[in-house]
Amino acid sequence: MNWRETVVLVTGAGSGIGRAAALAFAEEGARVVAADLAMDGLEETVELVQKRGGEARAVKADVSRAQDVEAMVAQAVKSYGRLDCAFNNAGIEGALASTADCTEENWNRVLAANLKGVWLCLKYELPKMAAQGRGAIVNTSSVAGLVGFPGLPAYVASKHGIVGLTRTAALEYAGRGVRVNAVCPGAIETPMLDRLERSEPRMQTQVVASEPIGRPGKPEEIAAAVLWLCSDAASFVTGQAIAVDGGWVAQ
Ligand code: NAP
Repeated sequence: MNWRETVVLVTGAGSGIGRAAALAFAEEGARVVAADLAMDGLEETVELVQKRGGEARAVKADVSRAQDVEAMVAQAVKSYGRLDCAFNNAGIEGALASTADCTEENWNRVLAANLKGVWLCLKYELPKMAAQGRGAIVNTSSVAGLVGFPGLPAYVASKHGIVGLTRTAALEYAGRGVRVNAVCPGAIETPMLDRLERSEPRMQTQVVASEPIGRPGKPEEIAAAVLWLCSDAASFVTGQAIAVDGGWVAQ
């Protein structure tokens, strides 16, 4: 795989796992279109890429809005002439509340950002990649897409949904040169995990106790798996939900 000829779109690139992935792709030589809700985090990501000699552009987009996602994908193609890989990673955790206490507003907000967001990204990315006869997509699910997590019903439902959507899109496009996989991170040290730990102090010990490896993961450890899934080294891998989780779901 020649990363220097590769154009990659990363959503949620202004923070955490998305930023780490944008940096990792750029370090290999890929041209990166970095997308997020807010420009400040994005501009920092682009600056970090450029400081390391890489190439990236920022695009402001809310992945829960069809218009934004269509424009984001069009912008990526306009900027660099093609779209080879996409990391559909933007997401929110929503409020901590049990299934009975989850509000309709929280449910709608989380499902819109996480599940509708990934579907909209696929909707506009897949035809571009199929027209090129080549592409690789990775969606961010979670260990919460493979097992339950009390207190986060909307998040868990959205992340399970992403796994089903990934499998379906993978089957639809397997014969057209486009691979679609999901990555399922365990607890990863990002602003999202900080927020969860702040809102529920017991979470910190719970999360570390859930990790057989004895520590939370680093965003770079997820980025490494995403790069592999997008690379030709994974050319026979599609429709998979790969846990990168310190052993969480092996228990
Ligand atoms: P993060 O640091 O909060 O980064 C998520 C980024 O996505 C933020 O920049 C956020 O913007 C952006 N975003 C949220 N809603 C968006 C929308 N509608 N449109 C565009 N961008 C949007 O969290 P992270 O931990 O890196 O999370 C990245 C992904 O990994 C998420 O899908 C998350 O569910 C998943 N994940 C994380 C963990 C973990 O332990 N950290 C574990 C499993 C899975 P704002 O900051 O402006 O909201």
